Amino acid sequence: MQVLDGKTVAHAVKQEIKEKLINFKKNGGKTPHLAAVLVGNDGASETYVASKIKNCEEIGFKSTLIRFEENVGEDELLHTITVLNENVDIDGILVQLPLPKHIKEEKVINLINPDKDVDGFHPSNVGRLVQGLPAFIAATPYGIMLMLKHYQIETTGKHAVVIGRSNIVGRPMSILLSQNMPYGNCTVTLCHSKTKNLKAMCLQADIIVAALGKPEFLTGDMVKENAIVIDVGINRVKDDSKKKGYHLVGDVKYDEVAPKCSYISPVPGGVGLMTIAALLLNTFNASVRNRKLID
Ligand code: NDP
Repeated sequence: MQVLDGKTVAHAVKQEIKEKLINFKKNGGKTPHLAAVLVGNDGASETYVASKIKNCEEIGFKSTLIRFEENVGEDELLHTITVLNENVDIDGILVQLPLPKHIKEEKVINLINPDKDVDGFHPSNVGRLVQGLPAFIAATPYGIMLMLKHYQIETTGKHAVVIGRSNIVGRPMSILLSQNMPYGNCTVTLCHSKTKNLKAMCLQADIIVAALGKPEFLTGDMVKENAIVIDVGINRVKDDSKKKGYHLVGDVKYDEVAPKCSYISPVPGGVGLMTIAALLLNTFNASVRNRKLID
C-alpha cells in the first residue's frame, strides 16, 4: 500500500509554479493576484481562506481578502464581484462557499468573469470542461488529477466509482476521470444519496473517490483488494482532548480500508493540500492568460 502524500505532491506543484513565475516575470509578467471573498465567520471557511492567502504569500503571489458580515446584502456582494472583474490587477477571484442562505450562490458565481474564475465553478468553465476544452477546473478534482499524475497511476480502462455529485467535487471529478485523456479514460459510475446498493458498486471499483461528507463512511468491507482510494472528505469530529475541540477525519475509515489498497490518500495530508496547490496553479494560469488578453 502506498500513501498518496498530498504534502509531497503539493510541494512539487508549488515548486513548479515558482519556477514558471520567475520566467513569467523575466518576460514582463506581473505578480499574480488572487482576490478572496469571505462572508460571515464560519470556522471551516475562515481556516480554508486563511490557508489560501498564506499559500499565496509563500509562493510569491499577491492576495486581497475582502470580508463581509454574515448579513451583507446580495447586491453589495454582486457589486464587489463587478469591481473585482473590472480591476485589471486582479487575476483570480474566489468566493468562499457556502454563502449565507439569503444570497443566491448561483448568481454570485455566474457574475465572476470566467477568465478570473480560478475556482472553476462558472458555467462557462464547467461547459468547457465537459467538452474537453481548456478551462479552469474546480480545484479539488483538479488537485486529485495532479496527484494521480504525480504517482503515475494508470487509470485507463479502470472502473472508477465517485461517491457524491456536488458541482464542486463529485460531478467534475466524474467528468475528468471519464475524459479521453491520460489520467482519465476510466469507466465512471457517479453515486449519490439515492444510489441503490452502494456497497456492491464500490466492491466493483478499481478507483473510489469518496466525496460525500460523512465521517468514515467507506469501510473495509466496501473496498476490493488493491483498490485506489481517494478520500476527499473533511469532517470535524468533536474531540475534547484537542485544543480546538475537534479532530479531522475523512469519508474513509482509514485503518480498515488502507491495508486493502494499492494507493490511498489520507486525511489530513491528502486532497486538502492538493486543492490549494491546484488553486495556485489556476491563479498562475489566469495571470498568464490575462496578460495575453491585455497585451
Ligand atoms: P455536498 O454536501 O455538496 O455533496 C455531498 C454529495 O454526497 C451529494 O451528492 C450527496 O447526494 C452525496 N451523499 C450524501 N450522503 C450520501 C450517502 N449516504 N451515500 C451516497 N452519497 C451520499 O458535499 P461537497 O461535495 O461539497 O463535499 C463533500 C466532502 O468533501 C465534504 O466532507 C467536504 O468537507 C469535503 N471537501 C473537501 C475539499 C478538500 O479540499 N479536500 C474541498 C471540498 C469539499 P445527493 O446529491 O443525492 O444529496
